[in-house]
Amino acid sequence: MIQDISPSKFNNSYKVCQPDSSSRFFIFSEDKLLADTSLENGDIIFPGNNDIPSADNAVYLFSIDDISYFLISDHKCSENGNFRFVPFKELRQLKISRNNSLFAAFTAYHLWCWYRSSRFCGKCGHTTVHSSRERAMVCPECGNTIYPRINPAVIIGVLNGDRILITRYRTGYAHNALVAGFTEIGESLEETVAREVMEEAGLRVKNIRYYKSQPWGSASDLLMGFFCDVDGSDEIHMDKSELKYAEWISRDEIVLQPQDISLTNEMMKLFRSGKI
Ligand SMILES: [Zn+2]
Repeated sequence: MIQDISPSKFNNSYKVCQPDSSSRFFIFSEDKLLADTSLENGDIIFPGNNDIPSADNAVYLFSIDDISYFLISDHKCSENGNFRFVPFKELRQLKISRNNSLFAAFTAYHLWCWYRSSRFCGKCGHTTVHSSRERAMVCPECGNTIYPRINPAVIIGVLNGDRILITRYRTGYAHNALVAGFTEIGESLEETVAREVMEEAGLRVKNIRYYKSQPWGSASDLLMGFFCDVDGSDEIHMDKSELKYAEWISRDEIVLQPQDISLTNEMMKLFRSGKI
């Protein structure tokens, strides 16, 4: 999965620090990221000190091994050399040999989205400032503290004996998926699972069991994967406003996603191999 970067180590402990000669910078322009994607092995290179006019306003985000990554929000950077603003969706399509750079890009995008939407206090409207103690934005006027926002969502493998419910979204991602959805305020994860399967496929479920989780920065999500069994009738009533496809598929008929980075793909693969 995208976060599986072992033996490399991701360190997201917050600290205030300055870039060094090995640091890399994330520079976004709307939903595009300044990066070099011309390498034959598909790896993604982010600009360093020599590739940008100034790192004065760089904010430390995280480290992977000895490389520290920074965000420059207000920038005057333009495309130069092999560095171009790459649409974020295009990054996901790259055939990369290791996940480090893609995971870094997804995580930086999550943080950038949060920093961008936290520039003003939601209580009083005053401009916020960076906390010096932790990853938070603070309102100097009323003291309101805004922490990074993470959206909980579930991925659901609905099983029907030797078949699994495969879906495709009406818009957005074009490949096979599982039932998925955001947790609403006031419900448990298990309740989210039952509600989403009922809403998207008109099915009742039982034996809901947790599988694994995944940070998914491109949507500011924390995804939690569950398997469950259909309970009673297996007749699918698809939500046509959200899905264009929902069918029971046997193990050997499952077509996986082109990139093996998502929790959804791992769950489909697990079922296909007979391990669940
Ligand atoms: Zn305020």
